[in-house]
Amino acid sequence: MTTDVLIVGGGLSGPLTALALAETGLRSTVIDAQPRATFDGNFDGRAYAMALGSVRLLRALGLWDELAERAQPMTGIRASDGRAGEGASPLHLSFEAAEIGEPFMGQMIEDRHLRPALLAACEASERIEMRFGTTVTAQHVTARGVEVDAGETLRARLLLGADGRKSGVAERAGISRSGRDYGQTALVCAVEHERPHEGVAHQFFMPAGPLAILPLRGNRSSIVWTEDAATAANLDALSDAAYLDILRPRFGDFLGAIRLAGARHSYPLNLTLANAFVADRVALVGDAAHGIHPIAGQGLNLGVKDVAALADVLGAARARGEDIGAPDVLARYQRWRRFDTSVMGVATDAVNRLFSNDNPLLRLGRDLGMGAISAMPALRRKFIAEAAGITGDLPRLMRA
Ligand SMILES: Cc1cc2nc3c(=O)[nH]c(=O)nc-3n(C[C@H](O)[C@H](O)[C@H](O)COP(=O)(O)OP(=O)(O)OC[C@H]3O[C@@H](n4cnc5c(N)ncnc54)[C@H](O)[C@@H]3O)c2cc1C
Repeated sequence: MTTDVLIVGGGLSGPLTALALAETGLRSTVIDAQPRATFDGNFDGRAYAMALGSVRLLRALGLWDELAERAQPMTGIRASDGRAGEGASPLHLSFEAAEIGEPFMGQMIEDRHLRPALLAACEASERIEMRFGTTVTAQHVTARGVEVDAGETLRARLLLGADGRKSGVAERAGISRSGRDYGQTALVCAVEHERPHEGVAHQFFMPAGPLAILPLRGNRSSIVWTEDAATAANLDALSDAAYLDILRPRFGDFLGAIRLAGARHSYPLNLTLANAFVADRVALVGDAAHGIHPIAGQGLNLGVKDVAALADVLGAARARGEDIGAPDVLARYQRWRRFDTSVMGVATDAVNRLFSNDNPLLRLGRDLGMGAISAMPALRRKFIAEAAGITGDLPRLMRA
């Protein structure tokens, strides 16, 4: 079987890439090791803060009308130091989308809605073939393109690794990685609460790591609660009632009484950056290129920008009659995305180091810093535009 692009990974980045490439006229096959049924959505509390720029791409790909009814607009963000039982520090940073003239900074989209919407769109496209339950075990560059071993031999002009943080595509292409283990685990769940969240996301910087409370539709919020790995393992082993007893004093009572809604998950956290985004007839997108700390909720948003940039580069190459797997074409993609993602990886790493500790001097510095930024409108607007993902050299699919 021969196509333009083979995409290993049917998570989020893989299907998004296939849809963006289809829009430029390119055909692709998406391969995932997991069975199709794994991706059918049940409510499980996982959700993504998709920045305004990423929402623009979903709209451009025709996915937004369906998702909009289920997404929760994020109109503001409030960040503050916090401690169990003490509530948030009175010195905080508060940002509102209205300050940059936008109705929202991003949208909270639940995993159970996003994944099925992407897969349904891929399955409806004449330019995309989906193969589930198929593991890619080998890849070879040939005189005319690239071949992969996935039960049978599949051929294309370009191979994309959208296969996550332990990307086998990158490893087989000889791309090394840099990074480190954070020794932290993110505990993820959803809660129902008495009072409305008004679309505001909260981030409490606790001594062991951040606690993010992200608004979902209705009186529900998604929780990303970071603890050191050993504490998280103990929390994971608790009953729902005991788990909630420990979460409650950290969460505080600003939304009234809370109770767990849906399943609990945990994710060990690490930083893993590919040392190159391209190799001979290979390119990486999403977590395969950059797995970062979730402290800023930017992981998937970085992947969305990879997808949009790659579609611009490959679409233009196709229109000019160039070989889409040629080294100079792939180098354009790498130039566009590698620096941006490395900066975000290093920035989230630094913020995590600065905030995930209980040093009194650092706490004071953080509180004063937040107070100072609050008083500088121009800097505030810059932060908001960054968080909304609408700064820098935006690819076509992410422009207003
Ligand atoms: C706790 C937490 C909270 C987060 N919150 C946010 C947020 O609010 N906003 C945000 O933007 N991002 C967030 N992220 C990041 C986001 O979840 C990831 O960036 C995103 O899920 C990565 O998707 P992906 O498709 O690149 O990789 P993955 O989801 O890892 O998909 C890789 C796929 O490749 C397949 N695969 C691997 N190897 C093979 C093989 N050999 N053959 C075939 N298939 C293979 C796997 O089965 C898998 O389906 C968060 C992450 C965490 C951990």
